[in-house]
Amino acid sequence: MGEKGKLERVWIQELTRPAFEGWLENEPAPVVIIGVGSIEQHGLHLPLGTDSLGVCRFIEEVARRTNSVCVLPCWPGYSPHHMGFKGTITFRAETLLNVLLDTIGSLAAHGIKRFVIINFHGGNTNIVNLAAQLARRRFKVMVATPHGPSQTELAKKIRYRMQRYFEVHSGPRETAFALHYFPELVEMWRLEDWRNTFKVHPKLMEFMDPEREDYELVSQVFMACLEPDTDDFTSSGQYAITDPREADPEEAAKYIEEQIQFLVDFINLWKTIPLPPAYRCKPQPFSA
Ligand SMILES: [Zn+2]
Repeated sequence: MGEKGKLERVWIQELTRPAFEGWLENEPAPVVIIGVGSIEQHGLHLPLGTDSLGVCRFIEEVARRTNSVCVLPCWPGYSPHHMGFKGTITFRAETLLNVLLDTIGSLAAHGIKRFVIINFHGGNTNIVNLAAQLARRRFKVMVATPHGPSQTELAKKIRYRMQRYFEVHSGPRETAFALHYFPELVEMWRLEDWRNTFKVHPKLMEFMDPEREDYELVSQVFMACLEPDTDDFTSSGQYAITDPREADPEEAAKYIEEQIQFLVDFINLWKTIPLPPAYRCKPQPFSA
C-alpha cells in the first residue's frame, strides 16, 4: 500500500489481508467490481472462456482507474443453450444466483456497501439483475449494473450490426474483442472454410432489418420465434451471419475505451453521493 488506501493490486485474490483492510479503512467509498462471464463454446476460433477472459481484462482496467477491488467469483455462468456443443460448462440458474449472493453477502459482512456487477454473457443477464435486486434488500448494500454509453456514433454502429447481422455470438464483434484482448488465444486459421450457418425461417430473416418502419414489432416477433438452443439454429455454434474475419480490433479497442471511461465516470460520480439512510446499518454477519 503506497498512498493511504491506494491499491497497488486490484484483484482480491492478490491482496494481503492488511492491504484489503487498509483500502477499506482509507478509501472514502470503497467499490467492489464483480465480473461474470461464461465457459461455453464460441464457434470454431474463439476460446471457451472468451466471456470470462474478456470481463477480467475489462474490470481490471476500470478498477485501476477508480481504486476499486475486482472479484471474479466463478469462471462459468448460465449457458444451458450451448450444451449441444462440447466444452461448455453451465451452472444451474440458482447456482449462479447463489454464487453472486454469497459473494456479495460475504463482502457486505466486511463493510462493503457499493457493488458493481459487470456481465459479459447475455445468458446471465436475468440472473445478474435478480441477484442485484435480492442483494440490495437482503444485505442492505447498493448494487449497480451500469452499462453505456449507448448513444455514441460507435455504439450506434455496433448496435446496428447486432440487429442487422445478429452479431451476438462469435461473429465479427466478439472476434474483434478477442483479438484486442487475447489474440494469442484466437485461432483464425480455423475459419478457412467459413460459411454462414445461421438458419431460421426466411420470413424471420427479413425481420432482421433495423431500417424497417415496423422494426420494433418484427424484432420482437423474431425473438419470440428464436429456438431455445444454439444448435437448433446454427451448426457451427456461431450466430451472426457475417464473417468473423471482418473483425476490426482497432474499432473494438475504441469501443472498449468508451465503455471503460463511462464506468469510471459512473463510479466516480456515485462515490460523491453519501450512503442513503436505508443502507447505513452496521454490516451483518454472513453465514453461508
Ligand atoms: Zn461470448
